[in-house]
Amino acid sequence: SENKEMGWNFGNTYIHLPETFYAHVKPTPVRSPQLILFNERLAESLGLNSQMTQSNNAVEIFAGNHLPPNASPLAQAYAGHQFGHFTMLGDGRAILLGEQITPQQERYDIQLKGSGRTPYSRGGDGRATLGSMIREYIISEAMHGLGIPTTRSLAVVTTGEDVFRETALPGAVLTRVSASHLRVGTFEYAAKWGEKNELQQIADYTIERHFPHLKETENKYLSLLKEVIHQQAKLIAKWQLVGFIHGVMNTDNMAISGETIDYGPCAFMDQYAPDTVFSSIDRQGRYAYKNQPVIGGWNLARFAEALLPLLDQNEEKALKMAQDAVSKFPSLYHTAWLAGMRKKFGLFNEEDEDEFLIKSFLQLMQENNADFTNTFVGLTVGDDFISENSIDFFHTDECKTWTKKWEERLDRQQLSKQEIHQRMKQHNPAVIPRNHRVEEAIEAAVEKEDHKVMENLLRSLSKPYAYLPEQKEYTKLPPATNCRYQTYCGT
Ligand code: AMP
Ligand code: MG
Ligand code: MG
Repeated sequence: SENKEMGWNFGNTYIHLPETFYAHVKPTPVRSPQLILFNERLAESLGLNSQMTQSNNAVEIFAGNHLPPNASPLAQAYAGHQFGHFTMLGDGRAILLGEQITPQQERYDIQLKGSGRTPYSRGGDGRATLGSMIREYIISEAMHGLGIPTTRSLAVVTTGEDVFRETALPGAVLTRVSASHLRVGTFEYAAKWGEKNELQQIADYTIERHFPHLKETENKYLSLLKEVIHQQAKLIAKWQLVGFIHGVMNTDNMAISGETIDYGPCAFMDQYAPDTVFSSIDRQGRYAYKNQPVIGGWNLARFAEALLPLLDQNEEKALKMAQDAVSKFPSLYHTAWLAGMRKKFGLFNEEDEDEFLIKSFLQLMQENNADFTNTFVGLTVGDDFISENSIDFFHTDECKTWTKKWEERLDRQQLSKQEIHQRMKQHNPAVIPRNHRVEEAIEAAVEKEDHKVMENLLRSLSKPYAYLPEQKEYTKLPPATNCRYQTYCGT
């Protein structure tokens, strides 16, 4: 049958958890779906037919008008700390269709985002705008290209219906693919509203699905806590190393799998300024670039609290275990960050003074308002690669002094200059999804139905470390403006 040819292969497990964890709900059909984006390579890796969208049936599936075979559509329940305050949440505009088993026997959630109201929608309409779904597609695929764990984007379809966000905007549905949608907030929900038995079931489910090797450990729930802490330390270090600002690091937006999730108000920083915040609602700068590691630790403390009843029957002992585990986060993060920074600077062995060398350069970047990405491109291949803009501060006396020390340091490794710079390319992307480029791509697609700008951008973002001549174009900085770039939630 047509369904079989598409390659759907659902084997659902979430539906077997206690019903407290979800609500049965089907996507709300839309008027006239049209395919805007489809990720052929991702489809193939999932065991889906990469030509499936030639059939209208596939487009109807990505719109929520038809269900794939063996779908068990549901909205997940979760809670979360939003800007520090505990709230009941849940999928307000997302519906999990089912879990696709790939030819490699891996399991991925296939979820529609913007597919209509659910019991967790509160005041929301359950819908999403085309602009914000294209934005999620571009940035999540950029993150994947950068080698950063992330949810993926399989398809975007327009709905033929308007969504109201101050003005009427075209609606869309995104198909999101993830290792799972288990969040810190899922555990907070279980701890607050479930019986201990339900908390244990979600923890066992998580271990089985993501960390089966922990089953045999002495205290598997403590092992789970430690593992999640370690994954998050590595993940947030990766964000910092490319200048990614998540923008809404609420505990419901922290995935237990270690993937980056929820591309709402996120954005990449241009100028290196640790205080950078893009989100229009983050007035205190809680989720500023420099705070991401601190907030990561804070969120993990909430995860640890939720797990307390499982860690030990003795409350004091459980608390001590949780505190010990969470207290390791800053040093795990720092180790991951320093290892990543060494590579960005071409340091492939270790010396005690490296951190000082690195931090003194970051300080110079900050003082000179240097562009984060281009500066590292400049260190890697020289500023010829950087379109229009040379790196002015490379010519300051302070930078020349620093460069002399750096070059002496590079010489103290058993690698040729050429080999070092070749390796540095693997750690310093030439292309990131710069805000003005993402906006330009969205505008062309939404307002002119011109998809070329978006497709060219996506192609470059899929190989950010390739340093292809045509990628020089994307090193261009945004035009000077007095307006700060702003991002929005829930659009
Ligand atoms: P976020 O800030 O994206 O993490 O979203 C926080 C909560 O608001 C989640 O429970 C979302 O499902 C929900 N939400 C966001 N936008 C909408 C919408 N348009 N309709 C219903 N729920 C929404
Ligand atoms: Mg969210
Ligand atoms: Mg969101």
